[in-house]
Amino acid sequence: MIDKRKFYINGRWVNPIKKNDLEVINPSNENAYAVISLGTKDDVDLAVRHAKNAFLSWSRIDKKTKVFLLEKLLQIYNRRWDEIAQTMSDEMGAPLDWSSSAQTASGADHINDFIKRLKEFDFEKKFENNSNNFIVYEPIGVCGLITPWNWPINQITLKVIPALASGCTMILKPSEIAPLSGMLFAEIIDEAGFPSGVFNLINGDGDGVGCDLSSHNDIDMISFTGSTRAGKLISKNAADTIKRVCLELGGKGGNIIFADAHPDAVREGVRNIMSNSGQSCDAPTRMLVEKSIYKKAIKEASEEANKIKVDLASKKGDHIGPVISKKQYNKIIDLIKSGIEEGASLVAGGPEKPSGLKNGYFIKPTIFTDVSNNMRIAKEEIFGPVLSIIPFENEDDAISIVNDTTYGLGNYVQTQDKDRAKRVARKFRSGGVYINGNSAEPGTPFGGYRQSGNGREGGNWGLEEYLEVKTICGWD
Ligand code: NAD
Repeated sequence: MIDKRKFYINGRWVNPIKKNDLEVINPSNENAYAVISLGTKDDVDLAVRHAKNAFLSWSRIDKKTKVFLLEKLLQIYNRRWDEIAQTMSDEMGAPLDWSSSAQTASGADHINDFIKRLKEFDFEKKFENNSNNFIVYEPIGVCGLITPWNWPINQITLKVIPALASGCTMILKPSEIAPLSGMLFAEIIDEAGFPSGVFNLINGDGDGVGCDLSSHNDIDMISFTGSTRAGKLISKNAADTIKRVCLELGGKGGNIIFADAHPDAVREGVRNIMSNSGQSCDAPTRMLVEKSIYKKAIKEASEEANKIKVDLASKKGDHIGPVISKKQYNKIIDLIKSGIEEGASLVAGGPEKPSGLKNGYFIKPTIFTDVSNNMRIAKEEIFGPVLSIIPFENEDDAISIVNDTTYGLGNYVQTQDKDRAKRVARKFRSGGVYINGNSAEPGTPFGGYRQSGNGREGGNWGLEEYLEVKTICGWD
């Protein structure tokens, strides 16, 4: 059993104040293989005291020193790449190749891009040419960073790096279900040589450390990625202290496929939702297909789903792994059963375990057709390898089905008519739109409308989340 029961506070690995162990489970085999501690309010108070103290000097540190330390961090990250990939693969079930080429790579991309943004960012500027007013961007203070298990390092780097770059100090609480990559990241920060107290890590669950951070009087901002359920609770807990709350929450992405779409559009849509075993907040989980190509699309989609292999995360190859936990497994199977009960047609996968995989939280790539937008599988975020296909009559009809959700994170459109693609993109009520399989470039903002959240991570937008803006009148 790997013993990871310490927390990283004020530049040292320390024992928790109270013993409270939690086992980390490998979702490929359901075996406990590591043990962490769940922290308490006393651990949070200690870390916040050190972060507050460290803020006095770190908030004033010059840009050159920050760039130097972040570049060092990137070098160490690159050196420990395989270890990071292996750790995420074990803790959250990402197959090793995918864990390296997508999960670990996303962290490196974010570190790289934030270094570039930091170098270019103007923290001070004149309001207007002949004005005597001066605008100064200053770090907001001590930040609580709460991250999920589905893209662990991606989310950690999207928060920790801009927090460091802006001059904030922080307490990171990684997901208690996939905490080990966060702890490895703390080792990297330690080796890079950031001053003590700037970065701290405490493990814990939502009801404990999560709530203690959200309601803490000396925490100035919470940045959270995870479920809309937890996002609402965090907002309520943070209300009394009027701290800034940045939320990246769930999604229920629509993918409109017009009859003139690229011949691979349906297959690509299937591969997209199934990757990471369906555990991505911006996954295109509702595929809307124009009626004239509906039958052909069903055939292609089911063929593609049946081609996708499900297997152990430790194996090499381009298969998908298990979902994260027993709780998520049960939730997804329950939703698959609800789809059958509510009258959708099951054309691939289903609630049974994939053959040959008795242990582990494995789910077959599953496709429903004849789905209507009021079924649970079309409304709720499933967070598993499950796609709903919905037919549509015309463009307006398709857009209104896509927008008929409480979420608004990422939506997709496939058509060779460029004007139509742009028209549809403008009408989507979401923070991201992906036309014909194009993806977001590093440094673009990522976030949601409506109950998908209120923040934007990445690039200058991500940096500005951690900054206060001060107007100084009479500068010259
Ligand atoms: P969750 O939101 O409960 O957990 C994510 C993080 O939030 C963890 O670090 C957890 O400890 C923390 N947390 C939970 N409750 C909290 C609270 N009250 N206060 C402060 N922190 C809290 O996610 P989950 O329950 O493990 O997953 C359930 C659903 O969440 C999934 O089915 C999926 O829909 C969604 N989810 C979305 C994302 C995303 O990237 N948008 C990521 C993970 C999960």
